[in-house]
Amino acid sequence: MKVVVLSGGVGGARFTRGLLAHLGPGHEVSVVANTGDDVWLHGVRVCPDLDTLMYTLGGGVHEGQGWGRADESTRVSTDLAAYGLGWDWFTLGDLDLATCLARTELLRTGLPLSAVTARLARRWDTGVRLLPMTDTEVETHVRLLDGTLIHFEEWWVRHRAALPAAGFEQGGLAGSIAAPGVVEALAGADVVVLPPSNPVVSVGTIVAVPGVREAIAATAAPVVGVSPIIGGAPVRGMADACLAAIGVETSALAVARHYGLRRDGGLLDAWLVDDADATALAPLRDAGWAADATATLMTDVPTTARIARQALALVGLDV
Ligand code: GDP
Ligand code: CA
Repeated sequence: MKVVVLSGGVGGARFTRGLLAHLGPGHEVSVVANTGDDVWLHGVRVCPDLDTLMYTLGGGVHEGQGWGRADESTRVSTDLAAYGLGWDWFTLGDLDLATCLARTELLRTGLPLSAVTARLARRWDTGVRLLPMTDTEVETHVRLLDGTLIHFEEWWVRHRAALPAAGFEQGGLAGSIAAPGVVEALAGADVVVLPPSNPVVSVGTIVAVPGVREAIAATAAPVVGVSPIIGGAPVRGMADACLAAIGVETSALAVARHYGLRRDGGLLDAWLVDDADATALAPLRDAGWAADATATLMTDVPTTARIARQALALVGLDV
């Protein structure tokens, strides 16, 4: 079976790890990753979501944190800080920095990010085909209420999304091109999965790359999503602040409506919500969705594998 996952960082990576555990060998999983969170720091290209996916699927992630490397140290960034360089709110560990150095060295040879990503991922044995959404540099910025524009990472990490945002701006996104393989993977998929990733700055960014939304609309594969909102709150992170900035309520039902039903021009055929949001099932089913409820907290790999199985079952794939 050919599966395509549209993923942000921690939520998408954890889900994909469970999906792989459920599927076992013999399937082809392509993961299209958000690159809107990318940033230049110390002259290196930092791609947080790609690296979270690589480390999580490759067995090198810091489990407690959900991102970054296990057994990490920060000697380099501490020394750089002695020169007054870097951001004290952004941790770039030594091993993480090695990944970014390797990426930047390869980018400097003229390779596009997609080729560089494939090369880096070889080391990690991720079990998936890892694709950046685009080779074009498109960074998400946040427009604050006073008109100031700051990088998404500064808003998210430094300010913990506490500064009310008027919206997100992604210069260049409308003129970007989907990375090689992205549209093809969607066209040839047997199923497309939207994992419990941030609907605004992860999945929302990926589907805003020209051609991606159209490829989802056109694919013969069913499209199923897992709600990142449980009982009216994001499980981890501050997705509620992102939803508020685009005027969407923080609820499983509102996120489903925001994505939209595919037969009405939206993205999804099916939506798996948490048991805490079972009241969303009747309105979803009445409107034509395939919908179900289960415990969706990704506490460990077997639990996440079970969530992935239920998501696939919702679109008739009992694998
Ligand atoms: P990021 O790029 O690291 O922020 O990660 P993603 O965009 O992939 O996912 C972040 C989203 O995952 C958050 O909005 C959370 O609401 C959601 N999330 C995280 N853990 C869980 C979980 O265990 N269950 C569910 N249903 N959602 C989760
Ligand atoms: Ca992210």
